[in-house]
Amino acid sequence: MKLVEEALRGSTRALGKLISIIENQAEESQKILSELYYRTGKARVIGMTGPPGVGKSTLLGKLAEKFLERGFSIGILAVDPSSPITGGSLLGDRIRFSALANSHRVFIRSLSSRGALGGISQATFNIVRLLDAIGYDVIIVETIGVGQDEVEVAHLADTMVLVLAPGFGDEIQALKAGIIELADIFVVNKADLPGADMYVTILEKIVRDTSLEKRWVPSVVKTSALNNEGLELLVDELDRHALFFAEHYRKREYKKNRLHRELVKLIEKMVKDRLEIFLEKCPQLEVILDEVVEGQKDPYLAANQLVDLFWHNVKLNKNREDREI
Ligand code: GDP
Repeated sequence: MKLVEEALRGSTRALGKLISIIENQAEESQKILSELYYRTGKARVIGMTGPPGVGKSTLLGKLAEKFLERGFSIGILAVDPSSPITGGSLLGDRIRFSALANSHRVFIRSLSSRGALGGISQATFNIVRLLDAIGYDVIIVETIGVGQDEVEVAHLADTMVLVLAPGFGDEIQALKAGIIELADIFVVNKADLPGADMYVTILEKIVRDTSLEKRWVPSVVKTSALNNEGLELLVDELDRHALFFAEHYRKREYKKNRLHRELVKLIEKMVKDRLEIFLEKCPQLEVILDEVVEGQKDPYLAANQLVDLFWHNVKLNKNREDREI
């Protein structure tokens, strides 16, 4: 595909177009992925999350500079649950750069999380793969809020970073509900404001209480993105976790588990799509439904009959396809 070749040669315009295709066109997206899959697997993928206002965008801008200084190229994907699929740039726009704004070694893009599967869509997984294949060394996926999106990002990221700041006490309470287990590194940003040390103490206690049996004990890093403080330390911690990850997790078994999860999801989606098409055109549905309404059949029996009809239909289509080949 021409766009793929252009993107591989360094065209960010082509890369942007490929992302739009992956976001919007399932079939084309498969072709792009098939072409690029063998090039993936080299990038470090970092998930960054935290409530709006803690300074993620500011921090990301500064982090990108640090990675560039260390010789890495960086791709940032900001997942915005509210934005429609437009190739929009709401969150991405907020990431502020200084002198490096135009570096071709930094790529920033906002994505909508309203994918086919609800949360972070398969499209986001595939866009991470695309950036990886194109050759970005570090890919950061930013999400806001503390919920399902983060759980999904944790499945795709090597390192999860949770950002908090003084004044976000309620969020810390909410953390105990689950996100805490996902974080490899906690960042207390806005360390220039009063109360930061108290946050560090609370987080360190939470970490101690929750990581007794963990091999990696999450670290708590204090930063002030505004004043350029603590950023070197944060990058060092990210490096330390990357090393740990490479040693313990990049093993075949781990990768296989991840891909297993992804495959199951893909299969579920494919079957569901086919089932929906089938049910839309299935004349027996109305008849069976009426029988359930009239009390002649219970819903389980009805569902079983429809599933049988569905399998039959799938087989018929398969035979037809085989004959055509
Ligand atoms: P996001 O919503 O998490 O992406 O947060 P932003 O990066 O948009 O930052 C929200 C506000 O916090 C902005 O006004 C930033 O200038 C400010 N901010 C970011 N980092 C710091 C920091 O380290 N200290 C202080 N005092 N303010 C900060």
